[in-house]
Amino acid sequence: MVLDGAGDTSLLVKDDVAPVLEENSTGRSPFLFTADHYGRAIPGALGDLGLPESELKRHIAWDIGIAGVAHALARHLDAHLIAQRYSRLVIDCNRPPQSPSSIPRISETTVIPGNEGLTREVAEARRGQVFDPYHRRIAEVIEGRLQKKIPTVLVSLHSFTPVYAGLARPWHVGTLYQRDTRLPPLLLKGLRAQADLVVGDNEPYAVSDETDYTIPVHGEARSLMNTGIEIRQDLIADDSGEREWADRLANIFGEIEMELRKQQMLPG
Ligand SMILES: [Zn+2]
Repeated sequence: MVLDGAGDTSLLVKDDVAPVLEENSTGRSPFLFTADHYGRAIPGALGDLGLPESELKRHIAWDIGIAGVAHALARHLDAHLIAQRYSRLVIDCNRPPQSPSSIPRISETTVIPGNEGLTREVAEARRGQVFDPYHRRIAEVIEGRLQKKIPTVLVSLHSFTPVYAGLARPWHVGTLYQRDTRLPPLLLKGLRAQADLVVGDNEPYAVSDETDYTIPVHGEARSLMNTGIEIRQDLIADDSGEREWADRLANIFGEIEMELRKQQMLPG
């Protein structure tokens, strides 16, 4: 596998997994779930990016716990899930490709040797073979649903590390949003109704055009109702935590769906 300037910029070969993972593509729910940081696969040609296994299991590589939550939630709600199998260290699927952190040279305090000094061709191969197929598929699914007049509410699933750069984060869960004024307040209300939760309102992250891709490009540009959700990783670190959070969120999204129908923001 040649990745230098010899003109061969192929990245994924037959032993590499496909970037896009889907579940329930015929699901009947109006909610469409995405998981940009679902997986931590690395194309064989990139080796280990120069990092030890211990780093490749940390939050810098993926959203720990979100895979289990996403599958269980999609099944509970009969919703379509579209997820990215490759690590955000290969290319971050929730960053505009022109952003300096699209292919991070440093994440939190970890230097990524395999991301140093990349040529434009190599960076474009990561975009063309990992980032683009994922976002093309999300676009295709949304366009197909809109053509068939299937109601579509975009929910981007993420998880966050309990301690970042030495600071402990108090929230159990957060909503993240920018322009949609319809869905995020309903999600905040549903989460805040659970007395045991500390709920972040655009915490620990807020959405912006500079730092995000999925919500601005797929949700806001099409005026879909949309929100992101961030779950703290220590709460979904094992099967029972993942199941508990999928149950919680399925109940909340079920109530939100009823409310949206009542308010005629979804067809009766
Ligand atoms: Zn994430």
